[in-house]
Amino acid sequence: MKRILLVILMLFVALAAHATVRVVTTLPDLADFAQQVGGDKVKVDFIVRGNQNPHFVDVKPSYMMKLKSADVFLMIGMELEMWAPQIIDGSRNDKLDVVDLSKAVAKREVPARVDASQGDVHRFGNPHYWLDPRNVKTILEEIVAALARASPGDEQYFKANAETYLKKLDAKIAQWETTMKPFRGAKLITFHKSWTYFAHWLGLDIVDQVEPKPGIQPSPGHTAELIRKVRGGNIKAIIVEPFYDTSAPEQIARSSGAKVLRLTTSVGGVEEAKDYISMMEYNIATLSAALK
Ligand SMILES: [Zn+2]
Repeated sequence: MKRILLVILMLFVALAAHATVRVVTTLPDLADFAQQVGGDKVKVDFIVRGNQNPHFVDVKPSYMMKLKSADVFLMIGMELEMWAPQIIDGSRNDKLDVVDLSKAVAKREVPARVDASQGDVHRFGNPHYWLDPRNVKTILEEIVAALARASPGDEQYFKANAETYLKKLDAKIAQWETTMKPFRGAKLITFHKSWTYFAHWLGLDIVDQVEPKPGIQPSPGHTAELIRKVRGGNIKAIIVEPFYDTSAPEQIARSSGAKVLRLTTSVGGVEEAKDYISMMEYNIATLSAALK
């Protein structure tokens, strides 16, 4: 009898070690990474659509329901998802493995002193690190570890998938760097400080933002100041995500000779951005064409 019980118990343990891992991510980009690593051992869902501002998300009961039945929750961290604690609490899922993917990333624009008085949404540093594709390796390492915690028996499978994906991505990175090489030092304005890591990777020079501070709406005063600043300043482009209004950028563009470009920071932000690689492909193609 005892032996039979033991066998049944071992069977359960073995099954649990190979169960489908239910993953929820904040961004669709992270959902793509989780799917690449998890293959057929995961079921992946995400919260923010690519044409939505990830900083400002209205919490819905359906988000809490998604987390209620999840094993792993992947987020960018650095307070990009200020709304996440609310849905984590609301899910009442005390087994949920909440993974902040920023832990091992080399962070940029981290202030010496955190100042919450200005309404700046980057008060712990710039969280848009996923737009430097060289950071994807660090992100995938965290995802492999998280999935392996949920399904230890599949660790080698997750590792192999991550390696395959990174090989493919590395080849793309080399291509993108070649495409962008002639445009090193090109002067740009961006709506929001989403492109800091991207610009650092490609040697682009972001001279200012349309927003007076990250997360603060453009104001006539700041726009006028920007127009004075960039007049004749050889600004090539103003980068605007799909979810921002283009009226202030258009105004600045008219006086600076720049073009307003719609680039996307997330999968699904434009139709062409089906996954992370095609998103980057679209951004690089659109930007390089404008800089020619
Ligand atoms: Zn931001």
